[in-house]
Amino acid sequence: MSEKYIPAGLRRLVRSRASGICEYCRSQVGFAPQPFSVEHIKPRAAGGQTTEDNLALSCQGCNGHKHTKEEAPDPITGSVVPLYHPRKQRWRDHFAWRAGAKFIDGLTPTGRATVEALRMNRPELVNLREVLYAAQKHPPAEPDTQ
Ligand SMILES: [Zn+2]
Repeated sequence: MSEKYIPAGLRRLVRSRASGICEYCRSQVGFAPQPFSVEHIKPRAAGGQTTEDNLALSCQGCNGHKHTKEEAPDPITGSVVPLYHPRKQRWRDHFAWRAGAKFIDGLTPTGRATVEALRMNRPELVNLREVLYAAQKHPPAEPDTQ
């Protein structure tokens, strides 16, 4: 969803709160080729409000794959479950790094569904994580808010 509907002060709050990290795949804005978006967790089209508790910082990849999704199938059970909600849930409760922090594993049905739906292990991300890990720049520290 376009950021033009989000007041500048609210955008600043979301960017600052996320410490420059995609709230889904943990990409760092400082190592991303494109600027990150402030996205509506519950889409505006589904009645999501433009309020701080419904906004998250997202890289372009996660934002594009998430689009208007709010739920997706758990790849293990096939049950449709809610996607990860960065304001209501803690990242570490649903996801974990694996293999030198190259891959994100989903720990819960919501975690697994979100990894799949947002393609949080996209090949280009895995390559970048490997290089950043070797340079001791990855994974990023967990923001206090999550
Ligand atoms: Zn991302």
